[in-house]
Amino acid sequence: MAWRFALMIDPAASDDPRTDFSDTFTAVDPAAPALSVGELSTQRGDGIFESVGVVDGHAQEVQAHLDRLVHSAEICDLPIPNLDQWREAVSRAAEHCGPGENVIKLILSRGVEHGPAPTAWVTAAPAADFTRPRKEGVRVVTLDRGYDRGVPARAPWLLLGAKTLSYAVNMAAIREAKRRGADDAVFVTTDGFVLEAPTASLILRLDGIYVTPAPTGGILQGTTQVSAFAWFEEEGLSTAYREIATEELARADAAWLVSSVRLAAPISEIDGIPIPVDADFTARLNAYLLSPRD
Ligand code: PLP
Repeated sequence: MAWRFALMIDPAASDDPRTDFSDTFTAVDPAAPALSVGELSTQRGDGIFESVGVVDGHAQEVQAHLDRLVHSAEICDLPIPNLDQWREAVSRAAEHCGPGENVIKLILSRGVEHGPAPTAWVTAAPAADFTRPRKEGVRVVTLDRGYDRGVPARAPWLLLGAKTLSYAVNMAAIREAKRRGADDAVFVTTDGFVLEAPTASLILRLDGIYVTPAPTGGILQGTTQVSAFAWFEEEGLSTAYREIATEELARADAAWLVSSVRLAAPISEIDGIPIPVDADFTARLNAYLLSPRD
C-alpha cells in the first residue's frame, strides 16, 4: 500500500475555541510504526472511524462524515470530537492526495491502556480501482445478521448505528459471500427485513421509487445514500425511507450498493436471481458522486 500521508492528532475538547490547531498535529511517516502496543483500538477494536472519498484533491461530504463521527462518539461514550480540529486535519490530508481517487481515514480510539486517552489520527492513501464493479455490477447474497429488527432499541450496548473499528464481522460476511460465489453481502434480520451491506448502504428501485431501509438504529446512515437521494430528488425522482421485507429484493428493477469510496455499484444478482443493471443511470449517478460534493 502506497500511503500518501499520516497525521497523529492530540484530540481537543469539542468546545475548545482555538482556531489554529497546528500544535495538536504531528505528521508521521505512514510506513513506520506509530501506535503504542497498549492501543485499545488494536487490542479491542474500541474506537470509531470514517472513510472519506477524495476526488482530485477534494474531500467529499466532509461535514456529513464529521457529523457521523460525532454520532458514533455519542453512541460509544467517547469524547465528542472538535469539528474544527478534524476539518483542519482532513484538509491537510487532502493536500497530499493529488489527482485521481483517494481515501482519507479518520480514526478516534478510546486511547492507550493506562495511558493517554483518547488517541486519534488521519491517513491518506490511493483508492482501489473500482471501474469494474461500478460498470458491471456486483452479485450479492443475503446473510442473516443474527438478530431481529427490535435489537437496536433493546440492546444499545451492541453499538449498532455507530461506525466502530470492530469490522471483523463485516469482513467475515464478505468472505462468506465470496465462498458462496458472490461478490458482496446484504444483511437481513431474523424477522425478514433488509439492513445494509457490510461496507455499503442499499438502494432499490421499487415501483419507480428509490427506497432504502430507514436508519432506525440498526444500520449506519450512509453519507453516499443521503447524497444520492438529494440527486434523485433534483432529477425529479421519488425517494423513500421505509422497512423493506427481504422478499421485496427480488422484484427490484434496479439496485445499488453505495459507499464513499466504491461509490455506486449496481447489483446484478441477488441470491442467484438476476437484477437488471441500469448502466446509463448508474453512469450518471457515479458522475454525480465523482463531482465535488460538500
Ligand atoms: N454501512 C456500513 C456498515 C458501512 O461500513 C458503510 C461505509 O463504509 C456504509 C453503510 C456506507 O456509508 P458511506 O456512504 O458514508 O460510506
